[in-house]
Amino acid sequence: MRNKRYTGAVSTTDDWSTRHSVLATARRTAALVNVLSGDDPDRPGPAEVAHVTDVLRAYGETGPLDLTARDVAEMRTGAALLREVFAAHDADAAAAVLNRLLRAHTGQLRLTSHEGRTPWHPHLDTDDDAAWDEWFLASSCMALTVLVWDHQRPPGGVCASPGCRNVFLTQGSGPERRYCSRRCATRERVAAHRRARSAGRGR
Ligand SMILES: [Zn+2]
Repeated sequence: MRNKRYTGAVSTTDDWSTRHSVLATARRTAALVNVLSGDDPDRPGPAEVAHVTDVLRAYGETGPLDLTARDVAEMRTGAALLREVFAAHDADAAAAVLNRLLRAHTGQLRLTSHEGRTPWHPHLDTDDDAAWDEWFLASSCMALTVLVWDHQRPPGGVCASPGCRNVFLTQGSGPERRYCSRRCATRERVAAHRRARSAGRGR
């Protein structure tokens, strides 16, 4: 069971209104999918539990989280399911994956203010104190669904750099994003440049 959430003082009005925004929730989803995507088949170790806790804190969770290795193992299952939404290449495919997840893993749409500690926002989990994995999957499905609705395109993508499995959110209307980070984009640009040079020498 999750601890009572959002017990800490809310620092600014800005924080109060934006912490639960669709975009903040979707960003948290991508960050959690990335820390939960280890290929390690073993039980999550203390380092992975600490990473997940750090991400939860970075996105506004306060108080003692008491996240256990078992919680993280269950959240890994959710991360693998959510990864399919990021892997979808068009809005139809993203919607199909989300519809499957919404049918199988979420409760009814409801509003909560966590007993007045947060602005009213929608939840798809069955209870404010639902287990971490249920909360993670339900809140992620909620945010990604709204993004597909709002933009009529997949909400994100998977990094095109071989060896990097990070997912990212698509934002703005610029050229299609292919990499999770500037670091991956630079590495691939340098690699492509090297390949072109050695191909030129081979001639
Ligand atoms: Zn990457």
